[in-house]
Amino acid sequence: MASYMTVFRGCHGLTQNFQRCQNILGKLNKYNQNQVPRRYLNLLEYQSKVLLDNHGVTVQRFKILDSPDNADKASIDLNAKEFVVKAQILAGGRGKGHFDNGFKGGVHLTTDPVKVKDLVSQMVGHKLITKQTPKNGIPVRKVMVAESVDILRETYFCILMDREHNGPVLLASPDGGVDIEEVAEKTPERLLTLPIDIYDGLTKDTAYKVADFLQFKDNLRELCANEVLNIWKMFLSVDATQVEINPLIETPQGKVVAVDAKIQFDDNAEFRQREIFAEEDTTESDPREVDAAKHNLNYIGMEGNIGCLVNGAGLAMATMDIIKLHGGIPANFLDVGGGVQEDQVFHAFRILTGDPNVKGILVNVFGGIVNCATIANGIVNASRNIQLSVPLVVRLEGTNVEEAKRILSESGLPIQSAANLEEAAKFAVSSIQ
Ligand code: GDP
Ligand code: MG
Repeated sequence: MASYMTVFRGCHGLTQNFQRCQNILGKLNKYNQNQVPRRYLNLLEYQSKVLLDNHGVTVQRFKILDSPDNADKASIDLNAKEFVVKAQILAGGRGKGHFDNGFKGGVHLTTDPVKVKDLVSQMVGHKLITKQTPKNGIPVRKVMVAESVDILRETYFCILMDREHNGPVLLASPDGGVDIEEVAEKTPERLLTLPIDIYDGLTKDTAYKVADFLQFKDNLRELCANEVLNIWKMFLSVDATQVEINPLIETPQGKVVAVDAKIQFDDNAEFRQREIFAEEDTTESDPREVDAAKHNLNYIGMEGNIGCLVNGAGLAMATMDIIKLHGGIPANFLDVGGGVQEDQVFHAFRILTGDPNVKGILVNVFGGIVNCATIANGIVNASRNIQLSVPLVVRLEGTNVEEAKRILSESGLPIQSAANLEEAAKFAVSSIQ
């Protein structure tokens, strides 16, 4: 039986090799019929392209629209022979996607400015459904209108942090514009995988090797190598965990252009990438996660009915597993962290009880760094302030646990104390039956 523990262990911290984590999480979702939403900063294509441009990577000129109103002006300003109109959502596969209004394709080419406006109005305000979105799609709020490029060939290029290699790995394939997983599976010889030594960095020699593998010849070889080096510099300077360019194209005019981009960032670098993190578009995110993140709580919403408040990611996963083992389904993953304060306990309770699916709460805290009495005070105050109306099971262990137990029992609140994790899970599951 797949468990949260085994699944998460394979992707510790979730910041490494995000793609693989998503795949693994995807499998877990199927198994549990739960949805684990994305938790890491992603940028929309146009935001990624601003960063690429700032680092010297060649991208198309573009305008961003949130309604068809300024479409005419955008077309005039761009003054292009041909335009490409692209829906901006945090998911790929847009070209082959469709909208909930029946309109086909999230990426369109046209030479007619009137058509540009028409395309924008077909996209804005409608949900785009692709292979990578939830079933019902994602609402499109912004549309990119760019100067289209002529495409001779599409290639694939990506740098990502990979746990298996304990560092950055470069992926390249002359077969771009398609699902790279398919290339890896069907024609692995067409996919170059090169670990990059973090001390040496991505050298000019390696950049040429990539250009050769991607079949950029003559002048294009130099151009491609430069793009690769600039992408590498950006990867380092923005603390990315992944920069994927699919496709990196060759034009008949002899240019190399990054046509699509996906960048993911290391959340631990937020403090030194303030500007980038401020760009985050949370309209697609689970509001509970956005709320939790404001209070430094590591929260992922799920679809069960037992709300969990736990310290430490490992203990959180073990708690989720043991709830499942006893026939319950967790409503969330919530790690309040090592140095949790009383007010964070309050916000955690507030977020948990704000979810109508939560029919009971299980608190499972091991006081190592944390003082159990702090947690107990937090629980008592939160229960009173929020007027908690669902059953609450608490298991505390470790530092100052006796004092904590006294606080809980003297509070007069209907809190069920458990002696250990097993008992806590059993109580939590039976409390909601
Ligand atoms: P995705 O479908 O979400 O991956 O969006 P992309 O930006 O990768 O676009 C999908 C496909 O549309 C690309 O692989 C290209 O074949 C095509 N495309 C995108 N932009 C242009 C462009 O400016 N000119 C041309 N000719 N084709 C484009
Ligand atoms: Mg693409």
